[in-house]
Order: sequence, then C-alpha cells, then structure tokens
Amino acid sequence: MGQLRFTDTDLPDTADVVVVGGGLVGLFTAFFAADAGLGRVVVLERRDAVASLTSAHSAEGFRLEWDAPENVEMVRESVDVFDRFADLVGLPGFDIGLEKRGYLFVSGSGGPAYRPALLRERVERWRGRGLPDVEYLTGDEARRRFGFVGDAVEHAHFRAGDGFVDAGAVARGLVLGGRFDTFVAAPVAAVEAAGGRVMGVRTTSGRRVATDAVVLAGGPFTRDLAAAAGAPLPAENRRRHGLILHLPPGLVDRSWPMVVDADLGLYWRPRPEGIFIGWEKALAWDQVPGAAMDPVPADLAYLEQVRVHGRRLTRFWHDLRFDDAVWHTGQYVAAAPNDGRPIIGPHPALRGLYVNTAYEGRGIMASPAGGRLLTRLLRGEADVATSPFRVFERDRGNDPDRMVL
Ligand SMILES: Cc1cc2nc3c(=O)[nH]c(=O)nc-3n(C[C@H](O)[C@H](O)[C@H](O)COP(=O)(O)OP(=O)(O)OC[C@H]3O[C@@H](n4cnc5c(N)ncnc54)[C@H](O)[C@@H]3O)c2cc1C
Repeated sequence: MGQLRFTDTDLPDTADVVVVGGGLVGLFTAFFAADAGLGRVVVLERRDAVASLTSAHSAEGFRLEWDAPENVEMVRESVDVFDRFADLVGLPGFDIGLEKRGYLFVSGSGGPAYRPALLRERVERWRGRGLPDVEYLTGDEARRRFGFVGDAVEHAHFRAGDGFVDAGAVARGLVLGGRFDTFVAAPVAAVEAAGGRVMGVRTTSGRRVATDAVVLAGGPFTRDLAAAAGAPLPAENRRRHGLILHLPPGLVDRSWPMVVDADLGLYWRPRPEGIFIGWEKALAWDQVPGAAMDPVPADLAYLEQVRVHGRRLTRFWHDLRFDDAVWHTGQYVAAAPNDGRPIIGPHPALRGLYVNTAYEGRGIMASPAGGRLLTRLLRGEADVATSPFRVFERDRGNDPDRMVL
C-alpha cells in the first residue's frame, strides 16, 4: 500500500512515473498506473491536501447524456469503476457516497435560452446510439413525477442511472488503497528535460526525482507546466462558480435528482446541507479564458443571478434563502478550440511527457476512465494517433459535443 507524506523531504531519487497534481484526475492516473505494474509511481501535489483545488468544488454529478459516443463511453466506464470502487481499491465497505438519483433536464418556451434545448430530438438521437434508457417526458409528465417542476416546463428528459459521488471520499480511497506514494505540500517547479526527452521533475524546494515519464495533471496549472517544459498545450481555463445554500429541512428533498435547466445551463442538486447550485453562463466573465488561479475569487453578482433565474422552471425557488451560502469556486479547463473532449496522452514535443486534463465540467465523472486510458498509453497499449483525446496543435477534427453546457 502507498504512503501519504506531508512534505517533500522524503522524495525518492527516482520513480518510474511521476504524476504532477493530486486532483481526481492525477490520483486515478496514479492508481491505475501502479495497479498495472508500471513500477514506482509518485504523486506530487502542491497544496496541503489531495483533491482540494477544483476537485473539492464540483457538484459531484455523473451522467451519460453526452453527444459524442466516446464521451458517453468514458463516463459509462467510470461509473462502472464507482460501482465497484471498494473492491477495486481493496477496502471492503469503503463508502464513496454513490447515489443514483438520476439527472433531469427541463426546458420551457418563451424564456431566455442560450441555445435551443431540443430535448425530444436528443432522446431520439441517443436511442439510435446505444443510450436507450433516457426517458422523454412532456411537461405534465415531468410535473407528475417530480413535484418541484414548475408550470413553465414543456419538455424534460430523465435518466435514472445517473447520480452523484463524494469526490473527497473517492480521493481518500485512492490514496488509502492505491500502490503509489503521495506527497502533498510538494509543488513542482519544473519538468526537467534534455535531448528532447523528460529527465525528471524539480520541486520548489530544489529536490529532484529522476524519471522517464511525467504525467501533467495539474488542472488549471497544466498549461503553464507544459509550456515551461517547451510543450505548448491548446487548453484554456475559465472561472466557474457553485454555491451550497444551507437550508432548513424539508425544503429540498434528498431523494430529488440533479436538475438542469437546459435552456440556461443552470443546474442544482440536493445536498445534505440544502442545495448545490451551479451555472456556467451566469456572467460575462465565465466565457473568458484566464490565467490559472488558486484561490479562485468569488463574484457576489453570481449569487443574485442564480437567485433570480433559478425560479423559471421550479416551484420552490422563491422559498430559498441565499443568506447562508458556501462558495465553491474553481476553473474549468477546456481544449482550445473546444471540441468537448479532454486532452489525454503523450505530448509530441517532449518524449516522456504525458498530459491528462481539460475535462471541463466532467473531471469527476470521467476521471476513472481517463486515468485508465493514460495508463494504457504509458504501456503502449492504446493507439495515440487515432485517439479522439490526443494532444493536438490546432484541431483534432472532432465534431463539437453539443451536450457541453
Ligand atoms: C463549480 C463546479 C462544478 C463542477 N461540477 C462537476 C460535476 O458535477 N461533475 C464532474 O464530473 N465535474 C464537475 N466539475 C469539474 C471537475 O471539478 C473538474 O473537471 C475536476 O475536478 C478536474 O480534476 P483535476 O484533477 O484535473 O484538477 P484539480 O482538481 O484542479 O487538480 C489539479 C491539482 O494539481 C495541483 N497542482 C497544480 N500545479 C501543481 C504543481 N506545480 N505541482 C504540484 N501540484 C500542482 C493542484 O494544486 C490541484 O490539486 C465542476 C467544477 C466546478 C468548478
């Protein structure tokens, strides 16, 4: 079993694989790499806890409703990992808070919309593509099934097998059960290279780990780390906000699903404390790429936006109180141009440098399969040239995924 260290003083001189970044993407990568027998695998995390930057602030939802078949399959494979997580990490009974309460998308006419939702058409498309268990519902059917659905809803779709996990618990399980070593408070200053190939990494305290394989899984910082190693990465960061409102019992039922206003891109889900609300088109800045940030500052104007616009399609919104809110701020990393696929694979500019990032709003639900794919690439078992997730310079030729909010 691996070790967790709170300093980099005991860093080994050499490792077979060094993973930079202990978010969920880095941890799953390390877990599968170690499990596949790739030798000594080490995770270096800059902060003083794993999964504490973006991975700590997500809505923790998973859904199969994506447009690109490879994105659907990536989450399907990942949910399978969540389903048997305790066995996989060898910790019988280990609880990752897996709850399959479903995802409900709702749409109404006459209101603001950032694009036509076309819910019925989506469901038909999925039927023909191996995703037959998304139910189309009229507004009346949705109201009968879900008491919180407002009068303005005209169309909805629901998939019962989607749900939530506890990202912190998943991270703890990987660290506890994985056969890799994790060093927190161990910021990587640079990837060292010579003769066109990776030689190792250097931490900010000047310690070095020699290795042939470095995986950059630094979330919003991945692009800067890659650029400093002479390997430009076509990725962009955009600021995102979420809120947990603490509510009196009885207002939001724990059994309700994740709900997405498909016209606006606003979403919410029940939480033990009340409700998590997120919206990716709330304010002008959320579409503007920016530098990596830690911490990510909160914009109070966001709270007013969700307070007003969440009312559209729900019955209970006017009873919500917004005076006891916990901010969940982060950044989405997306491929640029954004084709709705993560970037997973070897970087062509530097031998031994691998990248695992750009999951946008999907890095919890797709990180298991993404980590496994990177491990297959490290082992030379997957075809890089044809992978829709490969590192690219200008364009990968993928059609955009229309289900990216
Ligand atoms: C509001 C919000 C809601 C979301 N909702 C969902 C959702 O419902 N479902 C879903 O699947 N996804 C969701 N996401 C997206 C998800 O959170 C991310 O895709 C995911 O957390 C990315 O994981 P990561 O490991 O790539 O990045 P991170 O969690 O950011 O991890 C990267 C790590 O690298 C470390 N690092 C950076 N630089 C260095 C360095 N130089 N040395 C060492 N370590 C370094 C960082 O400290 C960090 O811990 C949401 C995100 C937000 C912000």
